[in-house]
Amino acid sequence: MATGGHRNGLQKPPNLRTSSSFKSKLPSSNARRSTPASLAAADSVSGRVRVAVRLRPRNAEELVADADFADCVELQPELKRLKLRKNNWDSDTYEFDEVLTEFASQKRVYEVVAKPVVESVLDGYNGTVMAYGQTGTGKTYTLGRLGDEDTSARGIMVRSMEDILANISPETDSISVSYLQVMFRCLGQLLEIRDQQSFVELLRLGEAHRIAANTKLNTESSRSHALLMVHVKRSVSGRDDEYPLETQNRSNLVGNLRPPMLRKGKLIVVDLAGSERIHKSGSEGHMLEEAKSINLSLSALGKCINALAENSSHVPVRDSKLTRLLKDSFGGTSRTSLVVTIGPSPRHRAETASTILFGQRAMKVENMLKIKEEFDYKSLSKRLEIEIDKLIAENERQQKVYENEIERIRLEAQKRVAEAERNYVEVLEEEKMKCQMDYMESIKKLEEKWTINQQKHAINGEAHTGAVNEEVAELKTMLQNETRLRKAAEEEIQKLKTQLLKFSKMELAGGSTDDLSLPEVLEEESRQKKKLEEEVRVLRSQLAQLSIEANQARSYPDSGNSGNPLLGLDCFTPLNHLRSREGSNGERASITNLHEQVGLQKILSLLESEDANVRIHAVKVVANLAAEEANQEKIVEAGGLTSLLMLLRRYEDETIRRIAAGAIANLAMNESNQELIMAQGGIYLLAMTAADAEDPQTLRMVAGAIANLCGNDKLQTRLRSEGGIKALLGMVRCRHPDVLSQVARGIANFAKCESRASSQGTREGRSLLIEDGALPWIVQNANNEASLIRRHVELALCHLAQHEVNAKDMISGGALWELVRISRDCSREDIRALARRTLASSSTFQAEMRRLRIEV
Ligand code: ADP
Ligand code: MG
Repeated sequence: MATGGHRNGLQKPPNLRTSSSFKSKLPSSNARRSTPASLAAADSVSGRVRVAVRLRPRNAEELVADADFADCVELQPELKRLKLRKNNWDSDTYEFDEVLTEFASQKRVYEVVAKPVVESVLDGYNGTVMAYGQTGTGKTYTLGRLGDEDTSARGIMVRSMEDILANISPETDSISVSYLQVMFRCLGQLLEIRDQQSFVELLRLGEAHRIAANTKLNTESSRSHALLMVHVKRSVSGRDDEYPLETQNRSNLVGNLRPPMLRKGKLIVVDLAGSERIHKSGSEGHMLEEAKSINLSLSALGKCINALAENSSHVPVRDSKLTRLLKDSFGGTSRTSLVVTIGPSPRHRAETASTILFGQRAMKVENMLKIKEEFDYKSLSKRLEIEIDKLIAENERQQKVYENEIERIRLEAQKRVAEAERNYVEVLEEEKMKCQMDYMESIKKLEEKWTINQQKHAINGEAHTGAVNEEVAELKTMLQNETRLRKAAEEEIQKLKTQLLKFSKMELAGGSTDDLSLPEVLEEESRQKKKLEEEVRVLRSQLAQLSIEANQARSYPDSGNSGNPLLGLDCFTPLNHLRSREGSNGERASITNLHEQVGLQKILSLLESEDANVRIHAVKVVANLAAEEANQEKIVEAGGLTSLLMLLRRYEDETIRRIAAGAIANLAMNESNQELIMAQGGIYLLAMTAADAEDPQTLRMVAGAIANLCGNDKLQTRLRSEGGIKALLGMVRCRHPDVLSQVARGIANFAKCESRASSQGTREGRSLLIEDGALPWIVQNANNEASLIRRHVELALCHLAQHEVNAKDMISGGALWELVRISRDCSREDIRALARRTLASSSTFQAEMRRLRIEV
């Protein structure tokens, strides 16, 4: 009776699929490859263990011994069924995934049983091909035949290797093989296998060992398991990537960082020990330990298969070395194909039935096939290293190219700069020549103009001189008249004196006069005399005034008037103008009388009068007195200078200040008075007055006073430090020529003193005039229309130029041009000569003139 009570019924595993093919349906490899990153459970597919049954033909012994008996099995290969005879009339039917008759060729067995597994291994799955059956039923024949003499007899191991080797590429893939047998002593260490020959050698060696071991036990291959393990590593990159490697290198480095895929399939081919050993265990009494272990491992395998077939929660995988090795083959991720081998002999019917049942149970085992695919970081890093090396080399190459280019550009630029410089020099030279020509041309024109002017001047000058000469002649006549009058008066006095003497003699003699008493006559005579003297004085001062003015007027046009020009200028006194403005002859006469009548002290005390009118009158009197050199000493002695300065200090009205300044200016003509003025803070007071004053005449007085002080050698430094020069320069704001001429005189005086001190070695350093910023005004007025101003300025320039230390400032301030002009154009021969000498003696001026191509 059939297990489960099915008579003649189909023994069908409950979950057996009615698949027409032994091949299980695997997901297409393309679909898998498209999602290499998702190797999770979703990617796994259920894959039931496939089981084929193979019947060995009767062997020689069976042909004889079982000649009268029918086979214990009947195969229906087209139905994939096997009938196991129970007796002559009864049998059990089993369905397998494949039923291989005694006529099935080795090739067909390989293709049906092993080839799908091998293909899966090449795709990155684990695969197992196992043979199970009684000793002598053809397990080794099916798996391990080498087919040396008959290639058609080659077994599954050899054919698997052939297929694997044919499908891998030695550049990207690798396989390693190990062969284990018997007591799982390792025969072949994991070897890298490159060709079929070396593999066959390995198998031959293994088989030799196995036979030797089994011979000892007087059985053939019944007590040992043999395992062939083939590890296949295949690189997916290169074959699978959509774009060519070159493109990856060039662009999208990030995309290129995706590591290539590595598929690691493992094929296990297991030739088990004879299945009858399970039942014989323990029955043979004395058993070798290793035989015990073999049997134990077979029964452990059976137990695991049972557990898996019944979906038991516990699968005793750890019970033996064999089940541990085959953990993945049953209930794991491997694609597994089992071939159960049976013999036809009815004598081994029980063993055959047990084998068939093992196969039936194995068909119920479900595996979850899972691709063994991983990122090949190693190979990625190697590839990246190569790429980096390439990039470094490329970078170096480009660097070199870049450097060469830079060098080229540099040389080119150098060439261009040199060229531009050459051109520039040429143009510059041309320009210089042109400028020189222009310069010469304008000099020529100027000279022509100058000549014309000179001629014009000469005509005017003559006219002027004529007028002056007339004036002088007139004056001379006047003077002669005056002198005559005076003589007449003196004679008259003499006469009167003589008369007086006569009278007194007569009186003494006792006589008396007729109508006039003698004292009355004397008094009358004395009055007359005073009147005459006064007149003479007025005339004298008028004459002096006129002769000075005549002198000044003459000094410019009349170049024949040689001598020290500075002397004449120094003698200039503001008093003369003042007097002519401030008073009439009669007034002055009365003032003089007043002075004599009331006394100097009284007049000076009136300067401090409460009444402004009185103060004005008083200051006028003092100013007039100060105009006389003879009075000056007396005035100063009586404290007049102090009083005058006091008037400036008190900010009196401008008329008083003007007159006071005039008086001070007159007193300032005297050297000792100059020191006194300074000592009493006069410069400060004059500067204050200058700053406030608006009337040109006031300014003229103040400027005249300072100009006089400027001529004192001892007072130079102090004058300057107390603001004297600044005050002078400040006054040029008033453009009145009288003021300007006083300023110019002061500057000339100062320059002369400086020049003298420098040449005596008592002072050094730049001119204080330059220090105080006088140079621009000097240069500006060097050719002033007013001859007096011009003369002073010309002299100032000559004095300044005599000291090398001033030369640089003078050049930069434009003074050199003026000096050159003076040396050429000045109407005064002496000043012209002085300028020429000065220019010639200065090396700085000489150098500058050479540079400017100026010749004097
Ligand atoms: P097992 O490995 O199962 O013990 P073997 O493969 O050694 O059995 O086979 C025992 C004998 O039977 C061997 O001499 C073998 O040549 C022979 N044999 C097995 N199967 C076949 C077959 N299908 N065709 C011809 N001979 C076979
Ligand atoms: Mg064998």
